Amino acid sequence: MTVEADFGLDRSKTSGRRSYCKACDRRRGRAYYNAHKDELYAQRVAAREAAWRAESEALEEEHRKRVAAAKTLHAAQVRRQKEFLRSIGVPDLSPEEISERARRRPSASVPAPLPLPRRGRCP
Ligand SMILES: [Zn+2]
Repeated sequence: MTVEADFGLDRSKTSGRRSYCKACDRRRGRAYYNAHKDELYAQRVAAREAAWRAESEALEEEHRKRVAAAKTLHAAQVRRQKEFLRSIGVPDLSPEEISERARRRPSASVPAPLPLPRRGRCP
């Protein structure tokens, strides 16, 4: 291994090599990182937050559309259900009206026990 091999390549330099050997360069880099640790960490956090914000903004429009579609579908299902109940003659009562009816007929709120099944072969 030659002495030049311990110096990194740098085509911008006339020598074609960096001014610090690899060991010194690592030491300097490490010292720079230790001196600017908090700053560099804050930069990474800021970049992550910006990316997260951009992603949620990109999803927002799509989510708004999906919520609107779900509400439209739900309204149509409620309408169909009401039409069906009307067609089979079930009165369209509010939960309060149903409770009121049950209160007026306490016996009706507790269903009568089903008759026991009869067995044909018993004496
Ligand atoms: Zn050195």
